[in-house]
Amino acid sequence: MSYCLHMSQQEECIFCEIIDGKHDTTVLLETEAYICFLDEFPVTNGHALVAPKTHIENLEQADWNDLFEFLQQAHTEIKDRYNPDATNIGLNNGQEAGQTISHLHWHIIPRYEGDLEDPRGGVRGVIPEKRIYRE
Ligand code: AMP
Ligand code: ZN
Repeated sequence: MSYCLHMSQQEECIFCEIIDGKHDTTVLLETEAYICFLDEFPVTNGHALVAPKTHIENLEQADWNDLFEFLQQAHTEIKDRYNPDATNIGLNNGQEAGQTISHLHWHIIPRYEGDLEDPRGGVRGVIPEKRIYRE
């Protein structure tokens, strides 16, 4: 059974629609090449996604040139707006890694003191029972 909402055509991609301004999604930052917008189902307040404006599925197809510059700018924007204590930045690169929307995107998840009783391990939690490596 496939959990991936695979899009065979760019027109069917929800993120391409957001990029085309077809939804009332809150856009935090954008350039000619990239966009940062709020996740519709946020893990925490200010959870945002960073995506290239061209429809590519995964990191193997990405142009790395100015990508990290934008990611850093988006991160600063989120810190300024939401004032988190820390952040998780993650990319689900491929269906087996948890990617459900096949338009490449980074998650920037603001973290707030006390949002999880014991936050140790952070992104290691992709395999929940492995998150904390030492008791
Ligand atoms: P992933 O599972 O890594 O592909 O992440 C997909 C993300 O897209 C999830 O965090 C969803 O909450 C988010 N999402 C799904 N639909 C929308 C939407 N219409 N607008 C904004 N974010 C969305
Ligand atoms: Zn797309």
